[in-house]
Amino acid sequence: MKACLLRTPARIETNPLEFTDIERPRPEAGELRVRVHVCAVCRTDLHVVEGELPARKSPVVPGHQVVGVVEECGQGARRFAKGARVGIAWLHKTDGTCEYCKRGEENLCDAPEFTGYTVNGGYAEATVVPESCVYPIPESFPDEQAAPLLCAGIIGYRSLRLAQVGEGTKLGFYGFGAAAHVAIQVARYWGAEVFAATRDTRHQKLAIELGAKWAGGTLDLPPERLDAAIVFAPAGEIVPAALKALRKGGRLLLGGIHMSPIPSFGYDLLYQERMIRSVANNTRQDGVELLNLAAQIPIRTRVRQYPLSEANQALNALKNDAIPGAAVLRVNS
Ligand SMILES: [Zn+2]
Ligand SMILES: [Zn+2]
Repeated sequence: MKACLLRTPARIETNPLEFTDIERPRPEAGELRVRVHVCAVCRTDLHVVEGELPARKSPVVPGHQVVGVVEECGQGARRFAKGARVGIAWLHKTDGTCEYCKRGEENLCDAPEFTGYTVNGGYAEATVVPESCVYPIPESFPDEQAAPLLCAGIIGYRSLRLAQVGEGTKLGFYGFGAAAHVAIQVARYWGAEVFAATRDTRHQKLAIELGAKWAGGTLDLPPERLDAAIVFAPAGEIVPAALKALRKGGRLLLGGIHMSPIPSFGYDLLYQERMIRSVANNTRQDGVELLNLAAQIPIRTRVRQYPLSEANQALNALKNDAIPGAAVLRVNS
């Protein structure tokens, strides 16, 4: 089958993904093989491809926002029938036995597997996944609309929840890519006022279109003090700037898996009970809740589609802020 393979991490400008043939994987006991229709592109894929996340499997097929149909069920896998439409997200497998799993914090599992990082993912015509980590996709979403919900959407949702966003919350977004363009729709549905700080004017424009009260540059001070802010951009220099925008007792959430070093800053920026917290991975419950909520709102994702063979181009465009919303690779129709 066709797949995009990363042999050696390298800058995306050198187009390190190789569009090639690999063997179609076989589902083991309890696993499903999913025929990939689409796979959305995430900034984490860029971190994997460029080696900002240390390689865990080599070569590897990236991609962890897959929508497709069940093609084959491994031994004992009975949760879905062949042909069922399903989604695959970043959390690929947990051990179910560590202290975090037992505590219901499986996103922090001591021995997790991650799709498109520690195991092959969705930049391919098919992929395998434990049936326990697969999501039914609400019928109301076309494939390409649903795919960006599976990481951008879920992580944004988890960040909003940890930021305690509700009616009247003044909420800042730092960076306005795929995750923020979904999260703003949830935040507005919950009655929050959104302020978007992002370097690219196209992204500022999208934020306003989606109902942001204000949009400005990444390090600009929003016109009102924020109750909470979520940093989606991987730039450490945003942290002190965002703290400056928070009211006393305000909450700062860091939504990315990777960030450049955070510059040192005076304690006065943090004092008065401001909080900083990172957001790591997702639980399956987060995924189920976000997908249900997305159908209820309903969330509309903006996507730009690329053929699978052009994954390098999609990632280059992502790096250059050239995608309003999310990029999606079209694999099979
Ligand atoms: Zn665990
Ligand atoms: Zn992701």
